[in-house]
Amino acid sequence: MIQDIFPHVYHNEFCQKEIAPEDYLFVFQGDRVLACREADGSLRLPRMWQLQDNLGEVQISSHLFTIDDDHYYLWEGQALTPFGKWEYIGSVVYRNLKPQMFAFACGAAESLHRWREANQFCGHCGSPMGKSSKERALVCPACGNTVYPKICPAVIVAVVDGDRILLTQYAGRRNTKYALIAGYAEIGEGIEKTVAREVMEEVGLEVEDLRFYKSQPWTFTDTLLMGFFVRLRGSSQIRLQEDELAMAQWFYREEIPADYSQISLTGEMITQFKLGLDPFHQAEEHEKAYASVD
Ligand SMILES: [Zn+2]
Repeated sequence: MIQDIFPHVYHNEFCQKEIAPEDYLFVFQGDRVLACREADGSLRLPRMWQLQDNLGEVQISSHLFTIDDDHYYLWEGQALTPFGKWEYIGSVVYRNLKPQMFAFACGAAESLHRWREANQFCGHCGSPMGKSSKERALVCPACGNTVYPKICPAVIVAVVDGDRILLTQYAGRRNTKYALIAGYAEIGEGIEKTVAREVMEEVGLEVEDLRFYKSQPWTFTDTLLMGFFVRLRGSSQIRLQEDELAMAQWFYREEIPADYSQISLTGEMITQFKLGLDPFHQAEEHEKAYASVD
């Protein structure tokens, strides 16, 4: 998945180090980031010294995070016109480029940039927001209102019925790849409840035996995804929520297309099922192995 950048390590500890020439600098224009695509297609991010002469008089930036020993900053000065090899690139393009560490970093920076842009003024009293000196937060100097980065918890659910999995297609999306049931947690709801509610709302099915798989920070939509494999309980008759889904259908392992991108949790979960590596199939195989030993 896109956040799996081993052997590199992403650090989120709050830090107020002043920017230095060797540090990486994210400059955004809307939701596109200033970067360069090398002749071999790889993604390159600018270091401060490479942009320095084009940044104008007032130079403001915020520390975002570090990867290994490299510090990454967000530019907060005036707009920057692309120059030389540097161009503005959108997430649909950069998230599939290598090295994955840079694609992941761009997504995390984009989410923080979006949060800053959306919270320039206090939603409570309208005063300009300031930066906290203690944590990654924006604070209103007039009323004390504190706003943290936006992270929305959501579920991805693979509903399994024996050797079949429920795949969906969302209504009104250009992406025609199959997906899984997905949805955001509501206020006052535990994540297990979100799983049951979303499946019932989207396809009218009951589920049980929730198995947490993995989570994924899907920064492109400020979402923290939690992936579950669940078993169907009772009838497999689908009742489609047509304003959300264009299609929902049961697929046997061998019927599932093999072309899923492995940067997303959805893609990885569908592939795991296709390969028989989902928790239910694994448990059955385990039991069979033990039975044959006896
Ligand atoms: Zn305020």
